[in-house]
Amino acid sequence: MEIRILGAHNIETNNTGYACILIDDVLAVDAGSLTANLSITEQQNLKAILLTHQHYDHVRDIPAIGMNFYLLEKAIELYSTRTVYEALSVYLLNDSLYPNFLEKPQEKPSIHFNIIEPGRTSIIAGYEVLPVSVNHAVPTTGYQITSTNRKKIFISSDTGKGLDDCWKEVSPEILFIEVTLLNKKESFALESGHLTPALLQQELISFREIKGYLPSVVLTHMNPLIEKDIKAEISKVEKALNIKIEFGYEGMRINI
Ligand SMILES: [Zn+2]
Ligand SMILES: [Zn+2]
Repeated sequence: MEIRILGAHNIETNNTGYACILIDDVLAVDAGSLTANLSITEQQNLKAILLTHQHYDHVRDIPAIGMNFYLLEKAIELYSTRTVYEALSVYLLNDSLYPNFLEKPQEKPSIHFNIIEPGRTSIIAGYEVLPVSVNHAVPTTGYQITSTNRKKIFISSDTGKGLDDCWKEVSPEILFIEVTLLNKKESFALESGHLTPALLQQELISFREIKGYLPSVVLTHMNPLIEKDIKAEISKVEKALNIKIEFGYEGMRINI
């Protein structure tokens, strides 16, 4: 399995992008920065997109993908919860902001939306996909993705603390998890459902207690304006847990 990070930040600039991770060029998790990073041929090779939640930095390129597939006269498979389906149809693909590609063209809509339910595994684009609820400001689903050769990753997406129930369900080799804020912003992190380095440390300790091991950890969703300071705080977490934690970045490729 090759994992390619297209967007690893919560701010878009010329060198940072919104949330988007691509697996083996065929399966995308979130669509914050999907279209600008893929040629039209690469976009046509996509088999499915999994959306974690409806926040703009995770769904931004869905209308663009809808238009591209509409003009290509093709359909893309999109998977998420009913909540995300409703948000897309009301706010983005509502025939006002942009055409409703969930229903256009009538014979075969450009976006074929599939409703998933947390806790229920399905086979998507040849992968075993287990959606698991995490703790964010709006209902959010992380995804454990298992390849045919049984390699497992878990992508948490945006989440705050309190992941014990989630850890019981997953057993990844690599954990892609967010760190958005600095330790001094802990009360805002608790309120908005995000992690600071210290909160991440608690979650990793509970992962180790529940599962008896720690996976490789790759961070995403950093605020690039404070990434240097986040790095300093993460180095304390690395020392405390005696592990190495990697920072995701745009263009990063990982093979497992
Ligand atoms: Zn969010
Ligand atoms: Zn986000």
